Amino acid sequence: MTLNKTDEEELVQLSEEERAAWNTAVSYYADWLVQKDLLFDRGMESIKNQLENAETSIDLTEIQLPSDLKSMLLKAALVYRRHWWARHDTENHQWITQVQVLVAQYGFSICDSLVKIYEVQWPEYPVRVDAVAYANWSGAYTTLYPTRPTISTTDTANQGIAALEIVFHETSHGMMNKVTNGLDTAEKAAHAGSPNSPIHFRRDLWHEVLFYTSGELVAERVSGYTPYADKNGLWMRAWPGRDRTVIERDWKPHMSGAVSLSGALAKLVEDLASTTSNWQGKCTVSPLSRLPVVWRTGTVAPGDSSEARHEGFSVLSNRSYPSAAF
Ligand SMILES: [Zn+2]
Repeated sequence: MTLNKTDEEELVQLSEEERAAWNTAVSYYADWLVQKDLLFDRGMESIKNQLENAETSIDLTEIQLPSDLKSMLLKAALVYRRHWWARHDTENHQWITQVQVLVAQYGFSICDSLVKIYEVQWPEYPVRVDAVAYANWSGAYTTLYPTRPTISTTDTANQGIAALEIVFHETSHGMMNKVTNGLDTAEKAAHAGSPNSPIHFRRDLWHEVLFYTSGELVAERVSGYTPYADKNGLWMRAWPGRDRTVIERDWKPHMSGAVSLSGALAKLVEDLASTTSNWQGKCTVSPLSRLPVVWRTGTVAPGDSSEARHEGFSVLSNRSYPSAAF
């Protein structure tokens, strides 16, 4: 992940004092945080959730962070606000405004479909989505418990109708328990049926199903839309082979309600097992008609009176702490 040219050029505008504060934050991150997994390290998740919960705090006194981290964040935030925040905030609002229209038009319908397809409740009502200038290498990621997507508003792949898919893709990460369990059950059954020829599946087959589902749900509603994974070559680069074809044949009937979830996954595993020698293995609409997601934009560190909130996602635009995968 790299800074865009405009953001990078702003670095030379920092005063000596600002540069010292900024470099201290960068060094702290490099020394103590960068090696941690932003998605699976519970400490990182805790930092993220606490900072989000404290977005209106003046001094972060009420949250449990190491004092050196807290002090560093507060100083870096001042620099960030002075040099980057105004433009990032504007860009985030522009992104929210355009995707908000799409969520208002298609959100409830997609939400209902996801709840039926994955046979679980909508994770939270509304789901908080943070819209930020920079998220991670993939342009978006979601932490669970609670389900909180973070989406880059400047990533070129997250623009236009694709933004709608990303919103519901990311939220779907909090709805995959029955799919992962169903795949596990189907795989064990397949193993039991042929103990002498073990089968292995891609570890992220559930994520392929997720990608296919959210992409199709948007394509079904928006004429001419090409799903993210197709447009960005994921089926070629990440999951080469027949995966997409088999998912479409075996999983899609479940999306329309013609086949049960467990039946579709069992068929998927069975068909992939026979073709994978190269393998490694009802949304409740509130009476208030609130949208299924809520937008927010703000700084990670407090004291910013210009912070704005928007129905839709929660957007913490521009954090000075690390973000984590798609
Ligand atoms: Zn994903």
